[in-house]
Amino acid sequence: MRHMPAVLVVEDEPSIAELIAVNLRHNGFRTTWAIDSASAQREIDAAVPDLILLDWMLPGESGLVLAKRWRANPRTKEVPIIMLTARGDEADRVAGLDAGADDYISKPFSTRELLARVRAVLRRKAPEPVGEAISIAGLSLDPSTYRVSFQEQLLKLGPTEFKLLQYLMGSAERVHSRASLLDKVWGDHVYIEERTVDVHVKRLREALGAAGTMVETVRGAGYRLTARPLQPVVVAEKTSA
Ligand code: CA
Repeated sequence: MRHMPAVLVVEDEPSIAELIAVNLRHNGFRTTWAIDSASAQREIDAAVPDLILLDWMLPGESGLVLAKRWRANPRTKEVPIIMLTARGDEADRVAGLDAGADDYISKPFSTRELLARVRAVLRRKAPEPVGEAISIAGLSLDPSTYRVSFQEQLLKLGPTEFKLLQYLMGSAERVHSRASLLDKVWGDHVYIEERTVDVHVKRLREALGAAGTMVETVRGAGYRLTARPLQPVVVAEKTSA
């Protein structure tokens, strides 16, 4: 039997929750509805869903607080989260992504957009056919064990950052535009802004620590992974005679 993905809908407005649930069920998903953060937590304690649609503005704890908590919990850290938000400005959207959301949908949204984003996020999180282990200048990535290390030290990467790094390492030294990264790493970029790439590159660099400089920004062109990162140029000041 085909697996029916379970979606937890955390939304305090019943009309929106019902609209989402009806459309998801009609398209082969199982849905559970939680009206606030406490009932959402109860649902998650009972069963970990395949995806969470999370309203930003909730009574009590906000969606942002919940997203951060679930990302920090080993039981839920891999569960994709799509934030639903009426807050349209870029700073808010970036805050949502920084809290660990995989994507966001601005209200009002069409049900077609909702389904496209849900499917895209699930596809991105689905196990990929494993590729070869790659090692470049002390940075190693092994898709079969899902491990990344730098100089023998294990690093912790989120699923999108892992995929991004895998792609960059697979074609090291080549420059990739944001649009081509969206296409190759995200797969379905119809509704995703190029700015999203920058957010994940930032997260990837942070996760890589000392190896973060290997992910280079190429001005006006995009990003590349290089074994020979440019060192910051230090211009010696002339000492006054
Ligand atoms: Ca709300």
